[in-house]
Amino acid sequence: MPPGRCAVCEDERQYVGWEGQRWTTLAEMQPQYRNVLEPEEPALTSLVTRPKFAIGQRALLVQSPAGNLLWDCVSFLDEATIQAVRDLGGIARIAISHPHYYSTIVEWSHAFGDVPIYLHAADRQWVMRPSPAIVFWDGETLMLEGGMMLIRCGGHFDGGSVLHWPAGADGRGVLLSGDILQVVPDRRHVSFMYSYPNYIPLAAPAVRKIVLAVEPFSFDRIYGAFPGLVIRQGAKEAVERSAARYLRAITGNDAQQNRRSSDLKSMTQADLLRQSFVAVEVNAAFSEAELTMADGSKLRFCHRVGERKASARAAEETGKETMQAHQILGTMAQFRLNGKHLDIRFQDGSRWELPFAPRADEA
Ligand SMILES: [Zn+2]
Repeated sequence: MPPGRCAVCEDERQYVGWEGQRWTTLAEMQPQYRNVLEPEEPALTSLVTRPKFAIGQRALLVQSPAGNLLWDCVSFLDEATIQAVRDLGGIARIAISHPHYYSTIVEWSHAFGDVPIYLHAADRQWVMRPSPAIVFWDGETLMLEGGMMLIRCGGHFDGGSVLHWPAGADGRGVLLSGDILQVVPDRRHVSFMYSYPNYIPLAAPAVRKIVLAVEPFSFDRIYGAFPGLVIRQGAKEAVERSAARYLRAITGNDAQQNRRSSDLKSMTQADLLRQSFVAVEVNAAFSEAELTMADGSKLRFCHRVGERKASARAAEETGKETMQAHQILGTMAQFRLNGKHLDIRFQDGSRWELPFAPRADEA
């Protein structure tokens, strides 16, 4: 007998079908469904169930001399699928981005010789079917055989993870992102949501954490959770661009300046700051200010009698030189900081001004 309720369905990130909670078995599905395997690029095959079942995600099989890895999972599994996957070298390990794709991982593990299933320990509570094959991993990264790396991003789920596959995209590197970084239909951006079906966005610190988590890795391509959703090239820039856009949308900064990427060429240096700017902190004397950029880097200003200087600082966790604050600092010509505003002039003649509201004690 199946349980009466499902914690994953009842969670506010998902929903129970309008007909109420329903269950099925692999045997019941057998006559109606099949899995379709399709090559995506050398050494990468996608698996999708047809007709569409439940939310219709895909699984991805990465072939590696160190043994194949199944990334995320589909619920349906039959003999034809097992044979087709065996023809590609079988499965040596399974890793799952987050609980929405736990599906029938235990069946899959069993079918390929009880191979290990890597799940992040922060999502342990969502495992509805325990198994000795499940390996809970802790921390922020886990190196797997074949140079593949699990990267914990959090966000959508506390243990939300992506897989870095350095050999993918002809050695330029690939991220398999599940819906931790969700590739959106234009296939040039990603999004970051707490709940996709219920449209609950993520807060700015969680988005920044995701961007920082993948930042140290080189990748040019991202495969999202659903068939066809791939950013084929320029994926690293796409993540930064998408995060900046998302942060602008949820923090209310500069909505009218929300530019399309085709306008990038006509962007001024001030526009670059507008696009990257996330938050500001100013001291009580208005002599020091610190701007936070979308990548977590900081731009510091100090302006008092006899002293005027600006500096850039990387986000705490990284030490990268290609940070946004550093780039913007390099384009600045002059600034002014006082009780009225932070006013920055750029070398191309453009200007960015952040007016300060009168403080309560002055009003
Ligand atoms: Zn999900």
